[in-house]
Amino acid sequence: MNYYSTRDTEKKTPFSSSHAIIKGLAPDGGLFMPERIPSVTKEDILNLCNKTYAERAASILSKYLEDFTYEELLEDCQKAYSFEKFGPDPAKTVKIREGLYTLELWHGPTAAFKDMALQIMPRLLCRALAKEKETMHPLILVATSGDTGKAALEGYRDLDGISIMVFYPVDGVSRVQKLQMATQEGGNVNVCAIRGNFDDAQTGVKNIFADPAFSLLLKKRNVFLSSANSINWGRLAPQIVYYISAYCDLLNQKALSFGDPMDITVPTGNFGNIFAAYLAKRMGVPIGRLVCASNLNHVLTDFIRTGVYDRNRAFHTTMSPSMDILISSNLERLLYLIAGSERTCGYMQQLKAKGRYQVEPDILARIQAEFTACYATEEDTSRVIHDFFEKEGYLSDTHTAVALHAACEFLQKKTQAPCMLVASTASPYKFAADVYHSLFPDEEKPESLSALSLLSGRTNTEITYPLRNLDKKPIRFKSDIDCSDMEDEIARFTERFS
Ligand SMILES: *Cc1c(COP(=O)(O)O)cnc(C)c1O
Repeated sequence: MNYYSTRDTEKKTPFSSSHAIIKGLAPDGGLFMPERIPSVTKEDILNLCNKTYAERAASILSKYLEDFTYEELLEDCQKAYSFEKFGPDPAKTVKIREGLYTLELWHGPTAAFKDMALQIMPRLLCRALAKEKETMHPLILVATSGDTGKAALEGYRDLDGISIMVFYPVDGVSRVQKLQMATQEGGNVNVCAIRGNFDDAQTGVKNIFADPAFSLLLKKRNVFLSSANSINWGRLAPQIVYYISAYCDLLNQKALSFGDPMDITVPTGNFGNIFAAYLAKRMGVPIGRLVCASNLNHVLTDFIRTGVYDRNRAFHTTMSPSMDILISSNLERLLYLIAGSERTCGYMQQLKAKGRYQVEPDILARIQAEFTACYATEEDTSRVIHDFFEKEGYLSDTHTAVALHAACEFLQKKTQAPCMLVASTASPYKFAADVYHSLFPDEEKPESLSALSLLSGRTNTEITYPLRNLDKKPIRFKSDIDCSDMEDEIARFTERFS
């Protein structure tokens, strides 16, 4: 199956799936999309019901990644979604009450849903490089404000022939995040704090990618730079799997009979996770409505309600930071499927030039036929965390709470009791201070590290495994440098590759 750029209006330039994974972004600035959406039949789904998560993943990925064999994919999926990394159930459905379920996607090595993609994608990349006979050594460069960097480090650690280096702003991450990165294990990783904020770190990395002299120096060492970008198809495809897997699990649990629609609510930032749910629906899984949940940065809520996408607005720093986004890159993939390449190019040009575009009424109608949108204020989020713990005994993180808020709003308007699946994207312990403060608003908000044991003590729940004993692990990475020294740091790290 070929891949095309969302901006390739004449479908002139086909790419293989390996190529799409290696390149990440198409040469014309568009995103890679498969030429058609493969289907899953009723028989396929019933077959998957008796399979492990790794087998389900290999089977679904093989429909999209045709230059990989099923056996190769199965080997990678078994390593990626092993018991050691994810425990017994990588994508666990939890019943909250009749008709309302969460899909917990945070049982991986960094306790957040990005692990679902970042554990498998680096393995796919290694295979893709071998298939394309690439002999140079890739160095993955990441600037992070916290969580993605840690998930990428865990995904790439100890893979053969590939290295990763992460830069984070020294004062821009929490103490827990800092500890998580400074104690990172693995022989092929490097972590470095930047004196500056997140923008400084990100600009530094962008400048390095654009510096031809530096890339020549690396080339002499047989090294080339690559990114772990969230728009890579190799990160998106694995996210389709857990929605199909959840449908199987709900069938197995007799919560659904085949054909009953499952509605899905997703806490959304870059539109990757919810787009994967949409693809699962287009593949033929009985999925009903897709509820797009946002926080105060509700550019998507406005878009889905009005057809106007407008990033010209105040940016809010919220307690669901992974959704603090004003440009949702993966939305381009939806626009491409619904409006086609030509119109998508136009929207993206306007977005670049004016930060705004408006889709035509027929396009809006087609989007609204699938998606509902809703946003939560900070007060809504705190109240949901508090009330779900009090009334349902369910402890949710801040991002999941945004989605639970949207799901409840949506369910109120419906007469029938459907099956609503809410994507739960992080462990409550990942955002323990805000969760604690939502539960006990009269107490002083705790510091991020002490919040872990406080939350555990007061809720009688266990600290999620990867976040335990963080302060007892040995610190491996201590350096803290000026932005102007980033290239030197990379040069030092790559010295031993040549
Ligand atoms: C990244 C992230 C999201 C947003 O997912 P998108 O695919 O960017 O929409 C939501 N919650 C958490 C915890 C995240 O890390």
